[in-house]
Formats: sequence, structure tokens, C-alpha cells
Amino acid sequence: MKIDSIIHTTWIASVDEKNTVHHNHSIAIHDGRIHDLQPKQDILNKYSSDVEINLDNHVLIPGLINSHTHSPMSLMRGLADDLPLMDWLNNHIWPTEQKHVSAEFVLDGSLLACAEMIRSGTTCFNDMYFFPEETARAVELSGMRAKLGLIMIDFPSAWAKDADEYLSKGVELHDQLHNNSLISTAFAPHAPYTVSDDPLRRIATYAEELDIPIHIHLHEIAHEVEQAISQTGKRPIERLNDLGLLTPRLLAVHMTQLTDDDINLVAETGVHVIHCPESNLKLASGFCQAFNLQQAGINIALGTDGAASNNDLDMIAEMRTAALLAKAVANNASALPAEDILRMATINGATALGLDSEIGSLEIGKSADIVAIDLGGIENQPVYNPVSQLIYSAGRENVSNVWVAGNHLLKDKELTTLDEKSILQKASYWQNKIKVK
Ligand SMILES: [Zn+2]
Repeated sequence: MKIDSIIHTTWIASVDEKNTVHHNHSIAIHDGRIHDLQPKQDILNKYSSDVEINLDNHVLIPGLINSHTHSPMSLMRGLADDLPLMDWLNNHIWPTEQKHVSAEFVLDGSLLACAEMIRSGTTCFNDMYFFPEETARAVELSGMRAKLGLIMIDFPSAWAKDADEYLSKGVELHDQLHNNSLISTAFAPHAPYTVSDDPLRRIATYAEELDIPIHIHLHEIAHEVEQAISQTGKRPIERLNDLGLLTPRLLAVHMTQLTDDDINLVAETGVHVIHCPESNLKLASGFCQAFNLQQAGINIALGTDGAASNNDLDMIAEMRTAALLAKAVANNASALPAEDILRMATINGATALGLDSEIGSLEIGKSADIVAIDLGGIENQPVYNPVSQLIYSAGRENVSNVWVAGNHLLKDKELTTLDEKSILQKASYWQNKIKVK
């Protein structure tokens, strides 16, 4: 049978249920899907293709899923560092956003983010920002996959003036993207301290009707929880429970401030936790008890957060930080081994986003969202265990090729869909415009 393309490689970390690692196998891609995955000779006996790619000393992994980011904030990378969350937001990020955020800003920032993500092996991201229709344009130009947040916040912005307008614009975008095979939507109320009860209740109802997830920052810092208790008498998570938001639709980001009761509530209600270790470390927000959450049976995925608080969109680095931090926090060197960390960045993210039948593992029938990582260099030799090497030794500079739905978006480290030069020019244009002090 003649098929679209064949990739031969040394290792395939499939992230199937048993975390199978195939040795000297090949993947046959047809119509954007993984048509077959077998030992190299079996694939060559069964198929032929005009596009045959040999990747010796590489490990193929499912495309990485960045389960929480704010892609346009890439234009604010390094703008305000070494500050705690509330000072950083109130005195730096929000004033800059008030002044500069526009459709043009969001498109340019999203393109910069997509280029960085593809080069780092990320094929899908879960975003939260204003002007999501512009991020949708960037995603379409890039060929990536994304879940775009329909943002809700109590303050007016350049995008919407009040809850009604945030909601109506969000639903309109959802309708426009309804049949898009690579882009889907989620509601994205910013946080319990920035969204009041009424819009949260409406979002809970609409999310059921439209059958989409709800993506929110939750229990990010101690002050958020203390302030909520003094204002409402309730912990934010209790308030969300009372408003009907704690369901398997909810993607709760950060979750660094959890009691045992909170963890039980999250486990019972099937809420997904999105862990952003580097952002939490940089803003000194606190520690997510990732190992305890996993032991409680909670699905945990991984995100970088925005580039203004990380300061990169590098999921390979995020995996290593998550692995190291989990061990330190749990005081247990066996907590979250490399295989579990790779699951957090792939299939667990797909599960949280409701995309696990389509992406998250390299198995026959799934979409061909594939990343190739070169382990042949000095820094990664010798290779006893390719998954361990990926988590503990490799870096995003080792990402050589990336496919989304069978489309080759990074070919021998070159972007095929995005123009690097114009993205760099736009980054410099915005830097001059935003210029601080
Ligand atoms: Zn965030």
C-alpha cells in the first residue's frame, strides 16, 4: 500500500497504557493519522511512500501538550522579573496590558509563542487571553493544535466591556470554531478573585450546554485563599463547589495551597489539576503537591504558564523541573518517575482537555502529532533508557522534527509554516513600543 510518509527511528516512547518503548520500529502516516506502528522491516514489507525519513538515535514521543499558557504574553517576556504574584500583576503586567493589548498585539505575540512551542516540541496548547480569535489565526497559520480560552474577567479590557460581552464574544468564537479539526475552545474565567459569582454560574451552565471544559487559575498563592476566607468565609475551592464548577470539566491551574480536605474534594469531583512548577517557583507562589495528588488518583497535567512568568514555553525543561520538584516536595526520590512525568506532558494533558481519543500517545488510529528528539549527541550519550534521557538530560535544542496531524511543521530544526524573520521583527517592534524605563 502506498502511504503519505514513513518515519524510521531507534526508539518510540508510545505513552500507551503500559508505557511501551519500541526499539527499531517505524511509523506509517496516512491521512494525518498513525496508520501503523511496527518493526521497521514489517513496515517496509507492507508499505511504500515517497516520503521516507530516517531518524537514527532519535526517540519519537507524542507531541507535548502545554496545558496552561497565555501565548500572547510572550511579548512581555522578561518585562518584570523577581516579583511576587500580586505586585507583578497589579504594578507591571495589568498596566502594560491596559495600555498595549490589541488584536495586533495578540496576533504577533501568539505567532512568537507558536514558533517557540513548535521548536520546543509542543504540538498542542491550552490558552487563556484576550482576543482569542487572533490567537486562533496564529494557530491556523502555524498548523498547531490548540484549545483556546474564552476569557472572563470582572474588569473591562480592549476586548470586552463587561460579563455579557465577554460571554457573547466567547460563544460567538466557539460557534465559529465548531468544525475546526485542530482548534477547540474552553471557558476561561481568570481566577476566583477576579470573577464574581454571577458570571461563574453562567459559565457553569453554558459549559454544560456547549460541552466544553472550564479553565481557571485556582489556589495559586496563600494570600488568594486567606483573602477569600476573610471576604466570603469560604476557601475559593469551596466557593467554586457551591457554584457548581467542581466537575470533570474543570481544569484547575496551580493548586499550590491545598489541605487534605481540598485534595479529597478534587479527587471526588474528578477535577483535573494543571501543574506549572516553574511559574510557581519564580513567583514564589508555593508548592503543588504533585505526588500526593497523583496518589489520590487525580489527573495531573503540565503547563508552562505565560512567558512573562516562566520565562519560556519549554515543556522539556518544565518536565525536568516537575520531576525534580516532586521528589523534593514529597521527600521521596521515587516520586513521579520519568515515565509518569512524560505522561503528565502528553496523555494526561490530552485527558484534561478532552482530546485523549485523538492525541496524547503514539498508537494506531490516533492523530500523527509526533515529536522527534535527537539523543545522538555527546550530551545525551550513552542511552540506557530513552525516556529517562529525555526527562533528565535532553533539552529543547535536541528537538529535530515535529508533526501535527501528519503535517511536518519542523523539518530538521527549520520551521516550515512560520516566517522566523518576520516574527523576530515583530518582537522587536513591540519591545520598542512597550519599552519600560
Ligand atoms: Zn496563568
